[in-house]
Amino acid sequence: AELDTLDIVVLGVILCGTLAYLTKGKFWGVVKDPYASSFQNGSASANRAGRTRNIVEKMEESGKNCVIFYGSQTGTAEDYASRLAKEGKSRFGLETMVADLEEYDFDNLDTFPSDKVAMFVLATYGEGEPTDNAVEFYEFLTGEDVAFSEGNDPALESLNYVAFGLGNNTYEHYNSMVRNVDKALTKLGAHRIGDAGEGDDGAGTMEEDFLAWKDPMWAALASKMGLEEREAVYEPIFGIVDREGLTPESAEVYLGELNKMQLEGTNKGPFNAHNPYIAPISESRELFSAKDRNCLHLDVDVSGSNLSYQTGDHIAVWPTNPGAEVDRFLDLFELAEKRNHVISVKALEPTAKVPFPTPTTYDAIVRYHLEICAPVSRQFVSTLAAFAPSEEIKAEMTRLGNDKDYFHEKTGPHFYNITRFLSAVSKGEKWTKIPFSAIIEGLTKLQPRYYSISSSSIVQPKKISITAVVESQTIPGRGDPFRGVATNYLFALKQKQNGDENPTPFGQTYEITGPRNKYDGIHVPVHVRHSNFKLPSDPAKPIIMIGPGTGVAPFRGFIQERAKQAKDGVNVGRTLLFFGCRKSTEDFMYKSEWEEYQEALGDKFEMVTAFSREGPKKVYVQHRLKERAQEVNELLLQKASFYVCGDAANMAREVNTVLVQLIAQGRGVTEQKAEEVVKMMRSTNQYQEDVW
Ligand code: FAD
Repeated sequence: AELDTLDIVVLGVILCGTLAYLTKGKFWGVVKDPYASSFQNGSASANRAGRTRNIVEKMEESGKNCVIFYGSQTGTAEDYASRLAKEGKSRFGLETMVADLEEYDFDNLDTFPSDKVAMFVLATYGEGEPTDNAVEFYEFLTGEDVAFSEGNDPALESLNYVAFGLGNNTYEHYNSMVRNVDKALTKLGAHRIGDAGEGDDGAGTMEEDFLAWKDPMWAALASKMGLEEREAVYEPIFGIVDREGLTPESAEVYLGELNKMQLEGTNKGPFNAHNPYIAPISESRELFSAKDRNCLHLDVDVSGSNLSYQTGDHIAVWPTNPGAEVDRFLDLFELAEKRNHVISVKALEPTAKVPFPTPTTYDAIVRYHLEICAPVSRQFVSTLAAFAPSEEIKAEMTRLGNDKDYFHEKTGPHFYNITRFLSAVSKGEKWTKIPFSAIIEGLTKLQPRYYSISSSSIVQPKKISITAVVESQTIPGRGDPFRGVATNYLFALKQKQNGDENPTPFGQTYEITGPRNKYDGIHVPVHVRHSNFKLPSDPAKPIIMIGPGTGVAPFRGFIQERAKQAKDGVNVGRTLLFFGCRKSTEDFMYKSEWEEYQEALGDKFEMVTAFSREGPKKVYVQHRLKERAQEVNELLLQKASFYVCGDAANMAREVNTVLVQLIAQGRGVTEQKAEEVVKMMRSTNQYQEDVW
């Protein structure tokens, strides 16, 4: 884990680059590019000191006394971990590092020194599961025979830890990841500092829960470790080096390619969350005839890859940001003129990771790698106050950063992203003093979006279907509505595929052909994520599916599969689907397909519909479920699998309530007893949810 000469020289150069920043760009351009071709590219994972999986050794070696582990699926937990690292360093002088749980082993956690601290920022995913990168950690810690290499007893007596969980109270297993890890650590003798915090995405208070939790936690930690608070000063984590010898045409410059293989065009598997496959879209069309709403059906062709999936899995789509927002962003930070300048970004300390490969351009970073359209974090507002264009704006930013109610009053229904927010605060004045490192640190990296695969893997193993509603929300007082990133990008791809050479859906433009035209011919980067949402292995078992709106996606796959099995002469069980939408003439998706499946499945298949806007009263799937109480209860007694997919906030919860009621009535038991039955159905996987 030593720095070689080149690294030291490079770090020196970066220091100059940073100074250039801190001097407000006065010396921009003076940093020459001494390693034009030999510069060791900082790909996202290139990190010489980062090979060991031994965290105790790693911290020792890099002089750290605080590690912040994250278990993250959508990037928020990772973002919070980075924020804790920065704050610990700038406010308390802690030597912090951020660590991906996946990259370390935990059997020596019992040798973790007592004068150091480990923080765990843990998201709960799906039905109380750990995030993909936390599975091994979780299994190790909560396993029956958790064993440590040194065999100390009580094993984790010397471990001091801090914990925060990210969850969603609309799910059955709210924040179970942090709760279970906390329990396991305590049981093993570790000492928690402060409370184990819980953020609630369901109530929309994640950020505020985090901010409210962290201050008492810092106070408790400071007292435990004898830390003294100092005035926080911003210190960049990344150095930016101008690469004057390079242009966007240079072969080694990343223009949005996600990794080295993509850059070199030697794209090969295994394809996964670290290496998405640039897949052709073989077909795309719209499923609604409604004027103001759009819903897409896409078929993604994975035959050129080793990607496979199982019915019920998820596909992740890697979007690119819309051109207008990229322009707005570059303009506000006065980067528009040098958008195509080539830069390298290098971590200024060995445990930090650059979240995208370089050398690259400002344009590529903003377009392909940063979540520039997402909501604004209040903590980031505090950080940026120091770089405001005027004292007046600085005062306003400080107030917005510190005063929760004021911040929410001002941001309220605006759907501000970072650019629109800063621009509103400064009344259009440019923000030229923000170090680019602060922007990279403060924004989440652009996340892939997940979709419940709407096809069956036995019917179309190499063609993955997506059913996605195009995200759009009207904003009071603003002409153009808020537009979701991934779905509007997919919409543009659909338009292009259907003959529009230069699609501008709702006035948006996208770099549809991707970096160096590598996505030309309608391609999109994807990977597949395994899920536990599965049909019973025995096709003769009955199934009940509740899937209103796009919640019907995985059930199209389920029914497609059962129709094929029926055609092949397999004995298929009762297949009952509850589907809901607004009007039978407007947003009734896959209408003719259901008829085909009906033909193949005969009376085995029944689709119960709820059209909310057709009658005098609004009717939803849960009402229809109630009407079918008796049959549903009987099927459940015959061990039918019960599936719910779609809206987590309301629908899934109400379905759960109706189910409890119908079981209570049907079996003549109390609601309390019926609730236990439903809980049991969940724990035995008879009741499965795929909600978002
Ligand atoms: P985004 O840009 O990500 O915006 C999404 C929402 O975030 C907005 O509606 C808004 O509420 C909020 N938001 C974003 N930016 C701001 C801002 N600046 N200010 C305030 N609020 C903001 N969707 C489907 O259509 N079909 C599926 O089959 C499907 N399956 C899924 C399966 C799983 C396991 C998960 C986790 C999600 C699934 N989704 C599905 C949802 C999907 O992943 C996306 O979230 C959805 O398509 C929106 O993505 P987007 O990039 O278009 O919108």
